Amino acid sequence: MNDLKLAGLTLGKSTISIEVNGVTIGGKEIILIGGPCAVESSAQMSQSAETVKMAGGKILRGGVFKPRTSPYSFQGLGREGLNYLVQAAKEQDLLSVTEVVDAQSLDLVVDKVDIVQIGTRNMQNYELLKLAGNVNKPIILKRGLSATIEEWLLAAEYILASGNSQVILCERGIRTFEPSTRNTLDLSAVGVVKELSHLPVIIDPSHAAGRRDLIFSLSKAALAAGADGLLIEMHPNPVEALSDGPQSLYPAEFVQLACELEAVAKSVDRVFAFDGQKDKDTLESLRSKVNNLDQTIVELLSARMQLVRKIGEQKRLDRVKDSNREKEIIQRLIDLAEKLQLPSELVKRIYPLIFEFGVQSQIKNRIAEDRDAKQPFFSSGSK
Ligand code: PEP
Ligand code: MN
Repeated sequence: MNDLKLAGLTLGKSTISIEVNGVTIGGKEIILIGGPCAVESSAQMSQSAETVKMAGGKILRGGVFKPRTSPYSFQGLGREGLNYLVQAAKEQDLLSVTEVVDAQSLDLVVDKVDIVQIGTRNMQNYELLKLAGNVNKPIILKRGLSATIEEWLLAAEYILASGNSQVILCERGIRTFEPSTRNTLDLSAVGVVKELSHLPVIIDPSHAAGRRDLIFSLSKAALAAGADGLLIEMHPNPVEALSDGPQSLYPAEFVQLACELEAVAKSVDRVFAFDGQKDKDTLESLRSKVNNLDQTIVELLSARMQLVRKIGEQKRLDRVKDSNREKEIIQRLIDLAEKLQLPSELVKRIYPLIFEFGVQSQIKNRIAEDRDAKQPFFSSGSK
């Protein structure tokens, strides 16, 4: 690979470290980047930032310009989302990274985020690579969906040759014939890149697997393979995520994974400082956690109500209330509350109310449906 004039490994040089606002990528420390696939709201980003911080992560991610496979999928919140990302990162003293897709998005984000990402679909967008070479921010360059390592390194060379020496390579799975995972994580790429180049390499197991259940093992394997960091998707409520929910970890899983990474890092003579226990309990941080929990409680109540309405559609109106089932559920929750050291009286008082509102909403829904069904065919269009 003679053309790797700048990306190539020169004699005696090993992986370089890239310093960015107090964080070193490519040093002894493993860098954890986490956050949702797409920025969706300010609360979602604050909750994500809190989790990343708690896990010992250093960088908050979140896409605001989403290059989606289908033009009908959520395309990102643009400028508004960028503000949520930057604000949330600031609240937790984290760095931020977001993807750019063209000259305009690069212009918009470059002075606001700490790191710029070029995604897999744009790895060979040479004009964008040259523009990224003109900015003074580190660039995470993801490997193209079907790019060879040589093509990927040459893409990095474009950025370097345009004047930006701060490139971090990110392996995120390549397309193979194997359909059980979204892509195939090429872990050998880490060793190959390190043999050929001085650029730090991180691993994104989320886009590689496309499935939450494989993220723990792939992340650990990535550290064992010599990766300098991990980029992992996590969402406060993956079931409701507007993109990549099935591969996104729940916050508690993200923190648990980080806790388990500490030992793996140590075993390969690297460092990962899991911060979970060091979480400082200031009045402000405690209040912010309570606010986030309250929001989650209301969101869950709303999701429950929607399910209850759906159930109501399948029942006869005179069978809507089922007292035995309610008693059973309350008993189960009382047992759980006792295990969790929550006063069972709370469950006894709250749940009858939740049931009552559920039943009322089922009845209202059914009456409205029956009324609509009885409307003469032409009435809705005749106004
Ligand atoms: C992403 O990180 O949000 C993303 C779109 O990843 P990729 O470019 O690897 O598909
Ligand atoms: Mn994604």
